[in-house]
Amino acid sequence: MTQLLTTSPFGEEHALFRQQCCRFVEKELAPHAKEWEEKKDFPNEVFLKVGKMGYHGILIPEEYGGSGGDYLMASVWCEEMTRVGSGGVAAGLGMHGLIVLPGIARFGNEEQKKRFLIPGVRGEKIGALGLTEPVAGTDLARIRSTARREGDHYILNGSKTFITNGNRADFVLVLCKTNSAAGYKGFSTLIVEKGMPGFLQGKPLEKLGWHAGDTAELAFENVAVPAANRLGEEGMGFYNAMANLECERLMMALGVVYSAQLALEKTRTYILQREAFGRPIGKFQVNRHKMVDMAVEIEAARQLNYHGLRKLANGEECAREVSMAKIFSAKMGDYVATTCLQLHGGYGYMREYEIERFFRDVRINAIGGGTSEILKEIVGRMMGL
Ligand SMILES: Cc1cc2nc3c(=O)[nH]c(=O)nc-3n(C[C@H](O)[C@H](O)[C@H](O)COP(=O)(O)OP(=O)(O)OC[C@H]3O[C@@H](n4cnc5c(N)ncnc54)[C@H](O)[C@@H]3O)c2cc1C
Repeated sequence: MTQLLTTSPFGEEHALFRQQCCRFVEKELAPHAKEWEEKKDFPNEVFLKVGKMGYHGILIPEEYGGSGGDYLMASVWCEEMTRVGSGGVAAGLGMHGLIVLPGIARFGNEEQKKRFLIPGVRGEKIGALGLTEPVAGTDLARIRSTARREGDHYILNGSKTFITNGNRADFVLVLCKTNSAAGYKGFSTLIVEKGMPGFLQGKPLEKLGWHAGDTAELAFENVAVPAANRLGEEGMGFYNAMANLECERLMMALGVVYSAQLALEKTRTYILQREAFGRPIGKFQVNRHKMVDMAVEIEAARQLNYHGLRKLANGEECAREVSMAKIFSAKMGDYVATTCLQLHGGYGYMREYEIERFFRDVRINAIGGGTSEILKEIVGRMMGL
């Protein structure tokens, strides 16, 4: 079942790396997923363990403790990470290592790279990304957080919501307005650190899925952020926030495909064991066809993703391919989750069988990192519509 029907972009070195990631996740993380989901939290030590394996540093240059890998290596980690079986854990790790740290590597100055990347790669400092606000998510230009320059500091006021790692974060890349009259050139990114007076990190929010994940509100009340903590040029914050979107979207889409594949395999095992009317329920033609329909959708999503990944890894323009891949994967994920749950009957509705968790966790993929509607707007514009 796990064998790919068509070519993948990965080579020999990726296969070895995949085995290592898979062993680590299955031994060190997956056995704790149920407990962490019930507690609605996972320990910060997980970041340290992942740091020891070097996985936070895949996209980070060697001089800052990373391995200087490419998007293919990052994708392998991203796919294997889904084996933890908890979207909340995967989201926390992915946000830190695949989104926040690469953002600092790309736009940070030497001093910031030393201060945040080196401990970040080790998992000693945890990062978050603060874009969304209570009044603005899709339409980020409407955010209201502002920072005014006073000497060698910015005075930051405002709030953020739905921030992954928001409660535990040691530092947050906060998008804010530094010049309200300058349109898209009026935004900047400030690195706000835990413990700065006036920086409040709320308790994790209650959610449909990603139960182990820390998704929190943040508030900034006259926080004096040193100008040395501005990431990138003043006025470039909006553009910098957009620069990593393709990677972020593709990583989410790859995670959906891999977790859908795992759900399909679990369901296959289940329907070959569960009997009704004198035979395994998987031997009824209607159920066999459901399984094949899901396998087709998963494979189609995977190939769309790998097409986008090849382009991303080659440094080619890929907004259209990645948007299509994420739209398709999110829809496929919902469909596979519903169908796998149905094939489990009443047990599918129970916590014990993990399909229920996948069903709840997968829903976020049409919302986070750009909703399916806004991705369709991007593709529609490219079609001249
Ligand atoms: C669990 C979780 C974790 C998250 N983690 C982070 C994080 O770490 N950092 C962060 O900054 N954000 C994070 N987010 C926020 C996420 O990125 C936003 O929820 C998302 O971008 C949508 O924004 P919104 O919720 O404000 O919805 P809205 O923008 O209010 O959209 C509501 C609905 O309107 C639709 N819509 C909006 N504009 C259009 C349009 N032009 N055409 C058609 N339909 C439209 C949307 O598609 C959606 O269906 C997270 C969200 C969740 C749920």
